[in-house]
Amino acid sequence: MTTTRIEAPARSVPVVREVDVLVCGGGPAGVAAAIAAGRAGASVHVIESAGCLGGIWTSGLLCWVIDANNKTGLMAEIHQRMSAKPRANEPGGAKSAYDVEQTKYALEQMCQEAGVGVRLHTRVVEVVRSGERIDAVLTASKSGVEAWRAAVYIDCTGDGDLAAAAGCGFDYGRPDAPGEAQPMSMIALVGGLDVAAIGHDYLCGQAGRYAEVTDNFRNDICAGGVDPSYARPSLFHVYDDLFLMMANHQYQACGFSADDVSQATLAGRDEVNRIVDALRSRGGVWNDICLVATSAQIGIREGRRIHGRYMLSADDLVRGARFDDAVCRATFCVDVHSTNPSKGKGLGGEGVKAQPYDVPMRSLIACDVDNLLMAGRCISGDFFAHASYRVTGNAVAMGEGAGQLAAYAARAGLDPHQCSWPLEDAAVAAQRAL
Ligand SMILES: Cc1cc2nc3c(=O)[nH]c(=O)nc-3n(C[C@H](O)[C@H](O)[C@H](O)COP(=O)(O)OP(=O)(O)OC[C@H]3O[C@@H](n4cnc5c(N)ncnc54)[C@H](O)[C@@H]3O)c2cc1C
Repeated sequence: MTTTRIEAPARSVPVVREVDVLVCGGGPAGVAAAIAAGRAGASVHVIESAGCLGGIWTSGLLCWVIDANNKTGLMAEIHQRMSAKPRANEPGGAKSAYDVEQTKYALEQMCQEAGVGVRLHTRVVEVVRSGERIDAVLTASKSGVEAWRAAVYIDCTGDGDLAAAAGCGFDYGRPDAPGEAQPMSMIALVGGLDVAAIGHDYLCGQAGRYAEVTDNFRNDICAGGVDPSYARPSLFHVYDDLFLMMANHQYQACGFSADDVSQATLAGRDEVNRIVDALRSRGGVWNDICLVATSAQIGIREGRRIHGRYMLSADDLVRGARFDDAVCRATFCVDVHSTNPSKGKGLGGEGVKAQPYDVPMRSLIACDVDNLLMAGRCISGDFFAHASYRVTGNAVAMGEGAGQLAAYAARAGLDPHQCSWPLEDAAVAAQRAL
């Protein structure tokens, strides 16, 4: 298909903020980056395209945190805050489910307490470069096109929108099948179920019973007349009579194609509705099942992996790599959801067995632009490494490290790659760099 193009007229754009640190994307990584930078004394603003902070936790309804248990710092603090809320699941489990509304509000409060400026409903669309540096970020919103300037920028958009707009190199999808990436899923909250009645046979989270309970769930959905696009449809208990359902896969949809994301959203929401209707038609424990909400933002597992100063690899995971500049230790397995339905619709590690490994700060520092960091799922890694570090316990820890480094670099008048990590050594390193 040929695309007609037009030349957009050049125009003058107002600079709405000049700050030390600009965080683009307010998901788990972005919120953590902004709070950490704010607490470190930097002036900081976070720009978020949705109407709330939290990303996959809130707009995505996926209020289930993995790989958080070994984390200290902000992740532990968020866990503590959320566990103290009236609607929390049992604390101390390997995974933690949070209430979506409470999460939105808690993150807003934490940003406010840290002095972080928050701009919602605003999307990063372009970058103005000056040599090897980002000079300004351009956004689109109800206020039109605006420019934002900072000493250091952090890309926490998940899909690497900021870095790509700045001209950074990136990888996407499988190395052995160009363009094939992990599928999207439309997360849904469902109610009208009795946890005592369905708990044993259908709920995920019971040690050693994952295959059995997802088979049971799939069989019941199929018996209602719908063959789910995900071979392991899963039901998780959030609290009381609220459950989280992940039952579909949208294949061959690219997270940075607005057409693909739109089509996947429509198809995913349609399938979720049909699955709930199919279950209800079975009666019994499903008699009163109801759809409480589908996510405003479909869950995107994989976007751009921006080239950094180190690319974390499957080999690093297998050998349980240790790095002097570690930001966090990831302990989650390699979790690849099928990238091609003709080869199966389930998930697995594809033979890559990870041991606990470090994520190095160099994977968070862009190599093609000097004043840019990344945090969350868009950092520098290969297909299999990404399939492990992408979960939110790690995204928060990465965001926290990136925010601290950005604040330090801005104050020192350095670029992130000129500072050493951990920051205890930074004063010495800064002297050397100057
Ligand atoms: C279906 C699914 C199930 C998953 N299951 C789990 C699970 O059970 N537990 C777990 O811990 N992890 C899970 N993950 C992985 C995890 O959710 C992500 O990898 C995680 O969201 C990474 O955090 P992030 O902050 O990098 O990205 P995101 O959560 O995607 O946040 C990115 C933020 O940036 C905003 N944004 C994007 N583009 C722009 C732009 N151009 N301008 C401004 N703002 C922008 C978005 O609105 C969003 O708020 C799952 C992922 C999916 C998709």
